[in-house]
Amino acid sequence: METRKMYIDGAWVESMSGKTFDSVNPATGEVIAVITEAGVEDARLAVAAAKKSFYETREWRDMDSQTRGDILLKIADRMDEARDELARLDCMDMGKPLREAEADVDDAIHNFCYYSSLIKTPHGGVYEVNEGFGKMHSYTVHEPTGVCALITPWNYPLLMGVWKLAPALAAGNSVVYKPSSNCVLSSIRLFEIFDELLPKGCANLVLGPGGTIGNELAANEDVDMITFTGSTAVGQSIMRAAAGNVKKIGLELGGKSPNIIFADADLEGAVEWAMIGIFLNQGAICSAGSRILVEESFAEPFIRRLAERANAITIGNPLENPDMGAIVSESQMNKILGYIKKGVEEGATLVCGGERYTEGECAKGYFIRPTVFADCTNEMTIVKEEIFGPVVTVQTFRTEKEAVDLANSSEYGLAGAVYTKDGARALRVIKELRAGITWINCYNPCFNEAPWGGYKKSGIGRELGVHGLEEYQEIKQININLNPGIVGWYEH
Ligand code: NAD
Repeated sequence: METRKMYIDGAWVESMSGKTFDSVNPATGEVIAVITEAGVEDARLAVAAAKKSFYETREWRDMDSQTRGDILLKIADRMDEARDELARLDCMDMGKPLREAEADVDDAIHNFCYYSSLIKTPHGGVYEVNEGFGKMHSYTVHEPTGVCALITPWNYPLLMGVWKLAPALAAGNSVVYKPSSNCVLSSIRLFEIFDELLPKGCANLVLGPGGTIGNELAANEDVDMITFTGSTAVGQSIMRAAAGNVKKIGLELGGKSPNIIFADADLEGAVEWAMIGIFLNQGAICSAGSRILVEESFAEPFIRRLAERANAITIGNPLENPDMGAIVSESQMNKILGYIKKGVEEGATLVCGGERYTEGECAKGYFIRPTVFADCTNEMTIVKEEIFGPVVTVQTFRTEKEAVDLANSSEYGLAGAVYTKDGARALRVIKELRAGITWINCYNPCFNEAPWGGYKKSGIGRELGVHGLEEYQEIKQININLNPGIVGWYEH
C-alpha cells in the first residue's frame, strides 16, 4: 500500500523518521491506508513554512480580501465536485453512516462559501471621539493573527477541520493543521484541493500523534495562535504549553449536556429529538444530549418509548446507511463498554443496549448497541464524565428549579435543550442554563452562521459565525487627530 504523505511548504512529503501508522476501517477492522507519521522535527518544518509564508513571502496575507474570498469559493466548488469521495472517506475512516458523512461535506462546503462572503464584507467601526486632546476619529481594522496551528478530533474528520481552516484562511493567516490520527483521509483529500488553489506555504498539513506533534505546535514560539477541538484534559495541557509566548488560544472542549423534558412536551417529538441528541454520529458529538432530565410524572412513558425506539435502531456497515454505524476504534469502543460496566456497578438501571453489537459482518468491526440508563444520580461516573458514545442517562426532577440545578450541576457547559409547550417557561429555563449552545423543542441542529462554543470546562472562544472569523483576527485601533498642530497641553 502506498504511504499517504503530508503537505509542507507546497510539497507532499514523508516524515523525516520514515515512520508510518495505519488507518483502520472501524466497520471491518481492515487497514485502508498507511500514513506517514510526523515527529517534532516535521512539525517544526511546517511551522517554519507557515512563518515564511506569513512574514516573508506574504502572498496570501497581502492578497485583497475579494480575491482571497474568490479562492475560497473555488475551494468550495472543488469540494462539491469531490463530494461523494470526501463523504465515503469519512464514512470508512470514522464509521459514521454515509448520509451523515454527506451532510458533513455539504456543511463544510457551505462553511467555505460563508467565510468567502464574510471576508468580502468589511466590518469594524468608525467613531468620532472628543477627549482631552481634541476631536479625533477612531476606527478599527481586522488583521490576520499570523501563524495559526489547528488541532482537531476524529468525530467529524472533515468538518471540524473546515470550521477552523475556512475562517483562518479567509482572514489571511498561514496555518499548520493537525487532524486526529484516527481519521486523516478526508483532510489529505482537502489538501489536494488546496494544493491546486492556494499559494505555497500558507496551508500545511502534519499527520501523527497529538502527544508529540500536537504538543510541539502548542509550545512552538513561532506559532501566534493555537486553536484546538478535543477533550478538556488535552485542552488544559495545550493551555499550559501555549503560555510560553502567550499565544492566542481557542478551545472547543468536551460536554455533558442536559436535555430537559417537561411533562407537557410532545412525547413522540421529545423522544425523537432525544435520540438525535445522543445516537447521531454514534454519540460522538461534543454537544450530545447525554443527560436526559425528565419531569417525574412523564418519566415512565418517556423512558418506555425511548427504549422501544432505541431498540429499533438499525446498526451495520456505514456505507449501507444504517441508523447507526461503527465506533471509531477498538480502544474507543472498549472505553465506552467500560463506562457501561461502571454504570451497572454503580447502581443505574440498564433499560436497553449495554453491549457490543456483533450480528453478521458487524462481528469484525466495533459496534455498540444504543444504550439507555434510568435511575441515575449525580454521583454516578456515567452522569459526571463524557462518554462520547451512544449512551444516555436519565434522571428525574419535580420542579423547574430542580431541573435547572441538575442541568447546571456539570463541570461542562457546552449545550442544552428544553422541551415544553409553555413558551415562557422554555425561555426562563434557557436563560438560566450555563451553556453556549441551546435549543427549544429540538436537539443538535447547527448552523454555519451561529456561534458555537462553551462555558465552563467546555472551552474558550467561539467557532462559526462572525465570531468564528474574529477568533483568527487581531483588531487594531487607529486614531486620527482631526486638528493637527499644538494642543496646548503643557503650559511651558
Ligand atoms: P483528544 O483530546 O484525545 O484529541 C484531539 C486532538 O488533540 C487530536 O488531534 C489529538 O491527536 C490531539 N492531541 C492529543 N494529545 C495532545 C497533546 N498533548 N497536545 C496537543 N494535541 C494533542 O480528543 P478526541 O478523542 O479526538 O475527540 C473527542 C473530544 O473532542 C471529546 O471530548 C469531544 O467533546 C471533543 N469535541 C469538542 C467539540 C466542540 O466543538 N466543543 C467538537 C468535537 C469534539
